[in-house]
Amino acid sequence: SATLLPKPSWIKVKVSQSSVFNETDDLVKKHQLNTVCTEAACPNIGECWTKRHATIMILGSICTRACAFCNVATGKPSPVDLEEPIRTALMVKKLNLRHVVITSVDRDDLKDGGAQHFANVINEIRKLSPSITIEILTPDFLRKEGALITISSAQPDVFNHNMETVPRLYPSIRPGARYFQSLRILYEMKQYQPNVFTKSGMMLGLGESKEEILQVMDDLRCAQVDFLTLGQYLRPTLKHAEVKQYITPDEFEEFSHIAKSKGFLMVSSSPLTRSSYHADEDFKILQIK
Ligand code: SF4
Ligand code: SF4
Repeated sequence: SATLLPKPSWIKVKVSQSSVFNETDDLVKKHQLNTVCTEAACPNIGECWTKRHATIMILGSICTRACAFCNVATGKPSPVDLEEPIRTALMVKKLNLRHVVITSVDRDDLKDGGAQHFANVINEIRKLSPSITIEILTPDFLRKEGALITISSAQPDVFNHNMETVPRLYPSIRPGARYFQSLRILYEMKQYQPNVFTKSGMMLGLGESKEEILQVMDDLRCAQVDFLTLGQYLRPTLKHAEVKQYITPDEFEEFSHIAKSKGFLMVSSSPLTRSSYHADEDFKILQIK
């Protein structure tokens, strides 16, 4: 078999076990919630949880899809927990953040893909934390007629859906998803709610070319997407897709310049950028809208 690429020096992850980290951990457990930070084995957990930035993952911890890059468990999900929106809102209030990110597993088994549950979570958070800005990072709602209308009616501040990779790599990296469906929901959200900021992101290092990355940026701008995140793909386990390339910090910087020149309002592009990494920086843009 091919030899594995050695991890470059800039990928080193900071470990943190501060008291705030432990408080965040306790709050997650106490409210019986899941986070993508732990389920996806995110390298930024030390830094984020020390600032109380936990990204709650709703609709269970088992996903109906099996993307080749993702550490979340696949299988038959449990029934929707109708108390989860309230527990999420209580947890968010305790975290005392100005901006929160909520994500979920994919629920192809549900008629609406979990759209109403997302809306309920937004509504409950608004009740308890009226001034917080809410970002949701959702699945693609493939073949879930009406899901986008349900979500847009709840008016998140930021609607985030990741393209993840370039179209050529969808069959191997994101089977079950469709490139144009992902683009379409970003575009549709903007049509339903022009005041909602839309956001998307990609993982680099899966074998895509620079031209392909720039094409995805253009496609996203055609879909009127406002914010872009680009980060290095890291293989969670040996069962997952291989890292084909480590993109250097300078190259990430160059992609950031290119993306800004294409008109994205906010770009986060660095090796450890994740969709919800430093998401509270979006907050600044949200305040001047
Ligand atoms: Fe969690 Fe996102 Fe931070 Fe990772 S980057 S630890 S997923 S909030
Ligand atoms: Fe992971 Fe999302 Fe793919 Fe499910 S749909 S396997 S949670 S990336």
